[in-house]
This record gives sequence, structure tokens and C-alpha cells, in this order.
Amino acid sequence: MPFSALGLSSLVVAAANKKLYIQPTPIQSAAIPLILRGDDVLAQAATGSGKTAAFALPLLQLVQTAQRKVLILVPTRELAVQVGEEIKGLVKHLPVAIKVVSVFGGVSINPQMMALRGHADVLVATPGRLLDLIKQNAIKPESFNTLVLDEADRLLDMGFSDEINRILALLPAQRQNLFFSATFPVDVSALAEGILQNPSKIVM
Ligand code: AMP
Repeated sequence: MPFSALGLSSLVVAAANKKLYIQPTPIQSAAIPLILRGDDVLAQAATGSGKTAAFALPLLQLVQTAQRKVLILVPTRELAVQVGEEIKGLVKHLPVAIKVVSVFGGVSINPQMMALRGHADVLVATPGRLLDLIKQNAIKPESFNTLVLDEADRLLDMGFSDEINRILALLPAQRQNLFFSATFPVDVSALAEGILQNPSKIVM
């Protein structure tokens, strides 16, 4: 089934195709229609499955059509950069300006504040640095009506449970939540249960 059969706009399909994504991967075929219709989604997905585009393609469409602002929480600086680059690589083929910013700890906060200038359409963040930026008034958490937890099992392995709960308390209650994890030990399942409302489930 081509991308166009999943409910994506011709502009978003064209952006995927320009990145040489011609056939959706299984996680993309499963997740894209659910995300477009606004479901909360719980997905078991490994690295290399195409999970980034599985959430990025429909969310970029919703940014354009449904005033979405997207917060993507990731466990590491490397993943923040990688996910940000993947999304920027899609945005550059879209005829609209969508601001994608990656923020992560271990480097100076000032260039990240400058990059944000108080606003991002898509913010990819590690939890600790996000809280620092919120504390400095560099970003408004209440503006994000869409949340993605990417590699949730690794977020918990890295000890980010408290940070995640503090961030969740600052987000609007009314939002779409997407939860991706390679594994589902009890702590990850409990986190998912606390975040997701009546989720559609994808197991690959
Ligand atoms: P991810 O699982 O998101 O880390 O993606 C793994 C790799 O697959 C990345 O290098 C993507 O650029 C690539 N990729 C994602 N979706 C597709 C697709 N539909 N066709 C070909 N390559 C893809």
C-alpha cells in the first residue's frame, strides 16, 4: 500500500517520496491512519523500523492542518539530534515553514534558547534540558497539544521518570499522546497507562 492510501496529503506524500520513502514500513502503515484520526497510540517498535517517520509524517500534516504543536521526548542527545534531523529532512521538502528544534543536555543552553526564540512547532527534547528551558521561560509547555514519548523504555532506564512526570503536569490535559517503546516491562506499561487515553495498540 503506498503512502497516499494511508490518509496523508499529497504534499506530505511528496515530501516522503523526495526523501526516497516510497513504500511505508509496517509500523508506518499501521500508525499513520491512527495518528491522523487523532488516536492515542501505544506502539511496540524497534529502532530501524521506520518509527520516526511513522509519527513524523502524520504529525507534520496535523501541524499544517490542525494547529498542532508537537513535543517529542527522547532519552539521549544522540536521539534528539537524529530525530530532529529526520524531521527537518522531511520539512525541507514541504512548501510551508515548520520550525523544528532539538534541545538536549550536556551543552550550553544559550544557543538552544536562541534557536527557540520562545517557540517551536516541533520540539525534540531530552527531559532534563526541557525542564531547564521551561524554568528559564524559553518555552511554554502549555503550547504543546501533542506528545510523543520515543524509546520510552530507554527514557526510564536513564532515570527520567521524575522529569517526565513533572513535564506531564505542565502540558495541557487535552492532547494527543503517542508512546513508542521497544520493550514493555512493568514500569514502562505503567507509564503508558498513566499517559494514554483509550489507546490504539500496535505490536510489530
Ligand atoms: P527509524 O526506525 O525511525 O530510526 O528509521 C530507520 C531508517 O529507515 C532511517 O534511516 C529512515 O530514514 C529509514 N526509513 C524510514 N521510513 C522509510 C521508508 N518508508 N522507506 C525507506 N526508508 C525508510
